[in-house]
Amino acid sequence: MGGPAARRITPLVALIERVLAPESSFQKRFFFLARRFVAGETIDDALSAVRAMNERGMSATLDFLGEDVSEESAAMHTRDVYFEILDAIKASDLDSNISVKLSALGLLISEDLATQQLTSILERAAGNSDSFVRIDMEGSACTEATLRIFERVFPLHSNVGPVLQALLKRTPKDIERMIELKARVRLCKGAYKEPPSIAHQAMPTIRREYLKLAERLLTAGNYPGLATHDVRLIGAIKRFTKEHGIAPDRFEFQMLYGVRPHIQRELVAQGYRVRIYIPFGTHWAGYFYRRVLERKENALFALSSIFSR
Ligand SMILES: Cc1cc2nc3c(=O)[nH]c(=O)nc-3n(C[C@H](O)[C@H](O)[C@H](O)COP(=O)(O)OP(=O)(O)OC[C@H]3O[C@@H](n4cnc5c(N)ncnc54)[C@H](O)[C@@H]3O)c2cc1C
Repeated sequence: MGGPAARRITPLVALIERVLAPESSFQKRFFFLARRFVAGETIDDALSAVRAMNERGMSATLDFLGEDVSEESAAMHTRDVYFEILDAIKASDLDSNISVKLSALGLLISEDLATQQLTSILERAAGNSDSFVRIDMEGSACTEATLRIFERVFPLHSNVGPVLQALLKRTPKDIERMIELKARVRLCKGAYKEPPSIAHQAMPTIRREYLKLAERLLTAGNYPGLATHDVRLIGAIKRFTKEHGIAPDRFEFQMLYGVRPHIQRELVAQGYRVRIYIPFGTHWAGYFYRRVLERKENALFALSSIFSR
């Protein structure tokens, strides 16, 4: 869910990222703006959010915020934080796995470094009751390398799975490859602005593609994670699974922390599996900004929280 090379770095984004950078004195003071979408800045905050979701009958996946690291020490730090998270999940017996971004583990430095880092995380995760590690998909500049690294580690570590984005024109082929490998896929629409040469642009087309790919994963894939808040898609997926006798324990819906919580609760009440993607950490500015870009009402929500303090 991060923003590597393909992200549009507008002057406004650059300014926001500078003002809200972890080392900036503004950052702590402005965290209340992001509170709805980011669990907090510490591992304890993240675990509390997981506990709250578990109490509501939902699983979690924890994301330590950060992306595009260009120094090996930062990539090592990300890996070490994931070790801590995995140990903390195990010690507190929570229902959560983790999501990682390869650009935060050193992909922009070298593919070998990112592969080694991912491998050490997969080995550490193997001791947890939910040992699964999801590789988030970043912008198209990273797609090929991300899938290459996934295929390097998967033969030895089956507890890993990629994310595929319905907006990319290459995705039907990637879905077939993942079905062949019996890999667990998270399907999402795609959060990055991509050019028309490689990506569908119109929402009705993206939605149609998403549904086709979701149906393919539901019938031939391995426990797909269907990540969307789109009620039309959720409704169509529910209908398709009922019509085809696909039991609710053969897939899960996935949603973002703080987005459409009433739908999250409704799905649980209807007997569906729901996993919540919970981001935490001090590098929350870029993630928060993308949520605001996605929906105008999120900007209004953030503004209203300024006045309700
Ligand atoms: C669990 C999870 C993991 C993801 N992982 C990745 C990833 O690895 N790579 C990647 O590129 N993208 C990822 N995404 C983001 C995804 O690609 C979309 O950008 C995002 O989910 C919005 O698409 P949508 O399907 O929810 O539909 P939309 O059509 O965008 O939204 C449908 C409705 O949901 C509500 N909604 C959606 N988003 C928001 C929001 N931010 N705030 C408030 N309301 C909202 C609105 O009411 C909207 O009308 C992930 C999304 C989820 C849920």
